[in-house]
Amino acid sequence: MPVPRSLSYAEARRRVLDAIRPGPVERVGLAAARGRALRGSLTAPHALPPFDNAAMDGWAIRSTDVAAATDEAPVTLEVVAVLPAGSVPERPLTAGRAMRIMTGAMLPDGADAVLAFEEAEDLAASGPPDRVRASAPVAAGRHVRPAGADLTAGAAVLDDGRELSAHDLALLAALGLAEVAVGARPSAAVLSTGDELLDPHEPLRPGAIRESNLTQLTALLEECGATVALARRLPDDVPTVTDAIRHGLAHADVVLTIGGISAGDFDPVKLALDALEDVELWRVAMRPGRPQAFGTPGGRLFFGLPGNPASVACVFETLVRPALRLWQGFSVLERPWLDVRAVAAFPSRPGRRDFARASLAWRDGLWWAEPAGPQVSGYLSPQSRAHALVVVPEDRASLEPGDAARALLLRWPGPATEPAVRRGRGEDSETT
Ligand code: AMP
Ligand code: MG
Repeated sequence: MPVPRSLSYAEARRRVLDAIRPGPVERVGLAAARGRALRGSLTAPHALPPFDNAAMDGWAIRSTDVAAATDEAPVTLEVVAVLPAGSVPERPLTAGRAMRIMTGAMLPDGADAVLAFEEAEDLAASGPPDRVRASAPVAAGRHVRPAGADLTAGAAVLDDGRELSAHDLALLAALGLAEVAVGARPSAAVLSTGDELLDPHEPLRPGAIRESNLTQLTALLEECGATVALARRLPDDVPTVTDAIRHGLAHADVVLTIGGISAGDFDPVKLALDALEDVELWRVAMRPGRPQAFGTPGGRLFFGLPGNPASVACVFETLVRPALRLWQGFSVLERPWLDVRAVAAFPSRPGRRDFARASLAWRDGLWWAEPAGPQVSGYLSPQSRAHALVVVPEDRASLEPGDAARALLLRWPGPATEPAVRRGRGEDSETT
């Protein structure tokens, strides 16, 4: 039977991240690139906008022509062309003349400003020749979007490791970068163990509970960029679990097991590790999530997660997500961190790092955190209610009201934050 290695959270994280070799790069069209990790930085192949163009519908003019225009002495210009968006002016604009121009159309040579429709008098109705009358000067550059004002040719556009947003994709589209190199998605095999588990659609029977972690972990993995190639529920049977892990390792980049890894008599993942090379059993000084296994058998990634739902969520956020994001090539590995203040006590124990499920509320210019219910790793509702994981560091026995802390944001609290749940000290019985 494998002997667990005791290590701090920081040491576990270092070992996990050190073991990651970034996965392959693939080229995808923009429609498939949202949320993916850009691999390699990009520069602008041409300027944006590519040419000087009108920012308003109006008349392209030479600002010097109307420099002396007043209400008493308006200036009338002859309108010699109409420039719809997409057109190319056939000749330059000469003195005393204007061209009717639509938003986005290329400015003719010689023009340096646009007189907007609402800023001048259109004399078209008073018969040919078409004319426009300006009663005030127009500054050079008014209502003009100069070439390169948004981006110059060759400018840095997006950095390596960027998580591509919808707005980034708009920028790439405008630059004609219709395909981008992104990190491949890791394929994942998820194996849940437990003779007590039922599928979500099954009726309850005595002694059994419904499996919730396959659902949770599959959703977390997909949200983190992975594709779940295989998700199976297994009995507490060592040969079955061993075979399923081997099968997963043969077909997926990362294999994650759930449960069966602590001190129980029938914990099958722990017993299956005997047959696996390069996987260690860990006792990480964190809560939830103490019993774990990790390794890189055959160059694949293996995470043995504890069985309790809050432990799965915590280990995912603190170790698995950073690992899978690094594998994909993201430069930011985690969800955002916030500085918070405890509004109620968060009990812990020195020597252990707690990640407490917490509700957040914004008051008096600060984020206030309180436990989102009892910190029992088998409970599901505090995890669902939580906005963040609040860290109680190793050198603290607790956080007390008013103490500053760091919080890993799971979801934005929004304007209407939930009411205070159960104040006071959470239960402190479970360590997984
Ligand atoms: P284990 O580490 O297998 O002893 O599991 C720890 C606790 O988590 C037990 O109460 C299990 O019933 C529970 N558990 C294990 N796997 C799951 C799962 N996939 N869904 C929900 N609860 C689970
Ligand atoms: Mg079990």
